Amino acid sequence: MFFQKFQRFMYGRYGTDAFSFFLLGLGLVLTLLAGLFFRPLVLLADLLYLYAIFRLFSRNIPARQKELSAFLRVWGPVKGWFSFQKRRFSERKLYRYFKCPNCKQALRAPRGRGKIEVTCQKCHKVFITKT
Ligand SMILES: [Zn+2]
Repeated sequence: MFFQKFQRFMYGRYGTDAFSFFLLGLGLVLTLLAGLFFRPLVLLADLLYLYAIFRLFSRNIPARQKELSAFLRVWGPVKGWFSFQKRRFSERKLYRYFKCPNCKQALRAPRGRGKIEVTCQKCHKVFITKT
């Protein structure tokens, strides 16, 4: 009964997305920091919560989708950098990571092969490196 009423209430409303979860997560972090260091940060956290709630019930779906795509344009590279660092760390015993001296592209090679000749996948520069 309640669930059906809620479903009807939510019909045509935006709901949640990655940006909403990001706002809630950031709000939670700010709440914790406020408790530890600087009390007024709670107000900023509350604004983030209110914005997330506003987005949840909003009927202006195109505007919310625009916000999401703007968020993903910024968040995508940040998330990509973190997942690259995670992968690099988990493979640290198997692969050595280095950058192409020409275009700075991140490259990797199996460890323990000694001096090897590397061809960059991006700019095709050939160089020697130790693994
Ligand atoms: Zn290169």
